[in-house]
Amino acid sequence: MEVTPVCTERIGTDGCIIRSDRGHRRSKVPRDVEMDIEFLYKVVPQLAKVFRIIDKIGEGTFSSVYLGEAQMRDGRREMFALKHLIPTSHPTRIAAELQCLTVAGGKENVMGVTYCFRKDDHVVIVMPYMEHRAIVEIISSMSFEEVRLYIYHLLKALRHVHQFGIIHRDIKPNNFLYNRSHKLYALVDFGLAQGTVDTQIELLKDLTGLRRVPRPVFGERNLNSCTPAPSTTKQAAIKTESGKTEEPASRRYPSASRGPLPARSQSSSQKPQRAVHQGLTCNCYQTDRVCNICLSRKQQVAPRAGTPGFRAPEVLTKCPNQGTAIDVWSAGVILLSLLSGRYPFFKASDDLLALTQIMTIRGSRETIQAAKAFGKAVVCSRELPRQDLRTLCETLRGRRPSPDDEVTPLPEANKDSTATRCHKIQDDTPTHRPANGAGQTFPNHREHSQSTPLTKQDSESDYKVEEDERGWDSVPDEAYDLLDRLLDLNPATRITAAQALQHPLFADL
Ligand code: ADP
Ligand code: MG
Ligand code: ZN
Repeated sequence: MEVTPVCTERIGTDGCIIRSDRGHRRSKVPRDVEMDIEFLYKVVPQLAKVFRIIDKIGEGTFSSVYLGEAQMRDGRREMFALKHLIPTSHPTRIAAELQCLTVAGGKENVMGVTYCFRKDDHVVIVMPYMEHRAIVEIISSMSFEEVRLYIYHLLKALRHVHQFGIIHRDIKPNNFLYNRSHKLYALVDFGLAQGTVDTQIELLKDLTGLRRVPRPVFGERNLNSCTPAPSTTKQAAIKTESGKTEEPASRRYPSASRGPLPARSQSSSQKPQRAVHQGLTCNCYQTDRVCNICLSRKQQVAPRAGTPGFRAPEVLTKCPNQGTAIDVWSAGVILLSLLSGRYPFFKASDDLLALTQIMTIRGSRETIQAAKAFGKAVVCSRELPRQDLRTLCETLRGRRPSPDDEVTPLPEANKDSTATRCHKIQDDTPTHRPANGAGQTFPNHREHSQSTPLTKQDSESDYKVEEDERGWDSVPDEAYDLLDRLLDLNPATRITAAQALQHPLFADL
């Protein structure tokens, strides 16, 4: 990278670093961010020769992202995003993330990579900085046309990465940067990516069993369950967790509930997890109860399995053969969110709640049937009807009255025992977990949404006029048709990103 060092910081009287930003704006960063920046300079000293690190712009479980400025050889100053990965990240995992960016990035709305620094086990991925706004800040002012373009560009990014056999696994607005004023889009964060069977990303083939890859869980015939995890403390703890898993039912029960499984799952590399939980025999298999043995089981802990609200039914039910369709589902959830003006749409702290919320929208019978197609038996305490997507979105936008029976609110964990729960998910190696939702909250869409379109100041009619101007009075059927196809409960029939780009909704693009 052709850059020369810049350093324009000085220490303020209160200990804060005062940064002169292109000579005309001065900003202070909080003390803790300042300390993080100092730490980063210390652990990766080469950075100081190239970048003036200005601020922290993102922080997750597995990385911190900083804004850095570099002076280029031609005198220009350029902004970069510096992603500092936590030092316990597995080298192959890091290399795979980098390889996704280098092979697939830099085009088709996928973030590229400029450089990578490493000192010992500290790695910093340098990317062009893209200014962006969080979806939650702008959702209430987005026009229908803006939503249409946003989804189109997301699908373009997905088609592109899927062509390389990359499953992103963490598609959500935070990982799809959107610069509203310049209409720029960039898919980021391949920290959870996995490869399809025929992936072109060599390093994704080597990822089985590593951190940030979903853990083997009880009952899971998982590609990842055969390679032992490397022995860091964190990983060891997770292994114990999954070690306390349930004996595969195939050893104790006839596999009556097992539906047809796609051929890929039958490979010899996908043996069921061996039994470890001795002396406990479950009593509730194939009933709609959850027995005490199951209630006392430890919940599965996956270190970073994406966000439950964006996870596809086949992910939530731990179907072993997941493909690029899981990203398409997540794009569907984003579209649902944008069309209804509610973000996040599904907010669930565990997979069973997430599945129940999906059933509330897509229907319990339909969900159970789709799950059967990929080899999972789902038990639900009561039937939930499938909702018409247009009615749902227009009601949530306040464009239609919402009589109680028209839009069923999403189930809430904290409510009483009458709340519908997805009770169990089973296959021949049951994965049913306790249905105790205690301590979890998620929004009732009519009451607690973060982006309630109607505020007290707005009169209903003012609001409606404004909405109409943004095109919400004439959302074409194609939008809901595409939504329906993206949110196909069955991954085998779900539309692909490439097909979705050919959808009539995008005929003019
Ligand atoms: P994590 O794995 O911790 O989620 P991400 O790669 O998703 O890391 O980055 C976290 C956040 O940092 C993003 O949500 C985004 O706000 C910001 N970010 C990441 N890359 C860039 C970039 N190239 N330009 C601007 N902001 C970025
Ligand atoms: Mg992210
Ligand atoms: Zn049980």
